[in-house]
Parts: sequence; structure tokens; C-alpha cells
Amino acid sequence: MQQPRAVTGTATAPDAQASGAVPLVRANGVTLQYKTPDHLVTATYRVSFDIFPAERYVILGPSGCGKSTILKAIAGFLKPVEGSFTLKGKPVTGPGPDRLMVFQEFDQLLPWKTVLGNVMFPMLENGVSRADAERRAREALAKVNLADFVDVYPHMLSGGMKQRCAIARAMAMKPDVLMMDEPYAALDALTRRKMQDELLQLWNDIRFTLVFVTHSIEEAVILGSRILVLSPHPGQVRAELNSPGFAYDARSGAAFQELVQKISQMLFGDRGGSH
Ligand code: ADP
Ligand code: MG
Repeated sequence: MQQPRAVTGTATAPDAQASGAVPLVRANGVTLQYKTPDHLVTATYRVSFDIFPAERYVILGPSGCGKSTILKAIAGFLKPVEGSFTLKGKPVTGPGPDRLMVFQEFDQLLPWKTVLGNVMFPMLENGVSRADAERRAREALAKVNLADFVDVYPHMLSGGMKQRCAIARAMAMKPDVLMMDEPYAALDALTRRKMQDELLQLWNDIRFTLVFVTHSIEEAVILGSRILVLSPHPGQVRAELNSPGFAYDARSGAAFQELVQKISQMLFGDRGGSH
């Protein structure tokens, strides 16, 4: 098996904060609610965080704490009842191609279109000319190392290659942020690890801004450069932690286990447990 290159932590957030840079995404005291016919569900309560360019920002918390709701709100599909979201300093008022969700159910790739066709498709739907769409698609596919697979159909790709194709498709739209919502939850442990490694390697190559949601502490520590820890329902911020970025052989090491334990304590007190 090819040995992935080491991923280093970004440390961009403290630098960016120190320099007073405008965050890419800012959540400012955000309360999110759902109104159902007979009650009001508060999904998150006064949540604040800043995400800076090229971070791997992980939102971690138990099931039902409002992680998916936060992504929906960043994407502009849900308005806060209190507080606000901004993107590069401007209020988020609705959906836009500047914030894209990468769906992992790669059945999202159209089976009857080639890799190139799949990556071009959203651009064509958004009024980009065919020539520009093709140029941007080829560029994005080259970045994710799929240049040799442009004419191949999705069923011929491995899981990791499908992930790269899905990310290329999003990148070609030139978004500011890519979002992923528990993409590996249904995978077996080995495949999951492989997909995590691939994602890290890809980030190392092209340094996009990633917002990644998970309820797995290990996954958060493996993938995140920063981790937002949310309390159980309704989600409130418990802590925000830096992760040094664990290279592949450091995951069995003491520093990794310490961070996992620390977060576990935060979420579960003395009971421990991984999720
Ligand atoms: P998570 O992604 O962290 O598991 P969600 O964001 O999906 O949590 O949900 C947060 C809370 O909001 C939960 O209590 C959930 O039941 C509730 N919720 C989610 N979607 C809806 C909806 N469409 N209508 C009403 N309540 C919802
Ligand atoms: Mg969810």
C-alpha cells in the first residue's frame, strides 16, 4: 500500500486570529430552532465559532446535538432565530455555490456520466459555458490526481477515487468552504480509515477549507486541525481545541490517546467511552 505523506497541523487559526483577519465563516451566538406543528425544538443554543482559510474544522458532538443543523445553516437553508452567520464578513442570507456540501454517498455521482461529465455537470447547470466548464473540470481533476481517469465511469472507480471525484466536482465550482456531514458513518473501520487518510492527503495537496461533522472523537482528532466540541442536545459549545495533526503512525501514540481522552472526559465526564 502506498504510504501517505505526513499531514502537519495548520496552526493557521491562531495566526489568523492574531493578525485580526476576517474569518471565512463566523457563527456569532447562533440559536437554531425547528418549529413543528406542536412544538419548538432548539437544536443549538448561542453557538459561536470562527473558521479561517485552509482549516480542517471539525464539529464534534453526540447525535442530536445540532451538528447537521449547523451545516444547514452555514449553507443558508435555515435562518438563526438568534445570532448570525457571516461568510467573509457578509451575512449569510441564503444558499450559494460559495458553500458546498460534499456528499459521500457517491451514488451522488451520476453513473451514466464519465468522471469529466460528472465534474462538469454542476457548472453547466449553473450557466458556465461548456468550454470553461471543461477547462475547470480538467484542472480540478488534475489537482486530485484523476487526470488519467477523466473518461472513466464512476462504477470503475475505487471508493477513494470516488471521494476525490466528488471533491473535484465541488472544487471546480470554486467554493470558499467544503462541508462534509458524517460521511464515513456507514463504512467499516478499515475503509473508513482509508477514506480519512485519502481526505488528509488531498487536503495536504490542495489546502481547501473543510468543515467536517462527526460524532466520533477519534475521527475528529484524526481529521481536525481544530475541533469544536458541542454538548448534547441542545448543542452548546463545550470547548474548541487545536489538534496538532496526527500523522499516520502517531495515532497509536500517547499524544493522540491523551487528546481523545480529554475530549471524552469533556463529553462524558468520568464515564469515558469513545462516543
Ligand atoms: P445531529 O446532526 O448532531 O445528530 P441534528 O442537527 O440532526 O443533530 O438535530 C438536532 C436536533 O434538532 C435534534 O433534536 C433533532 O431531533 C432536531 N431536528 C432535526 N431536524 C429537524 C426537523 N426537520 N424538524 C424538527 N426537529 C428536527
Ligand atoms: Mg447529523
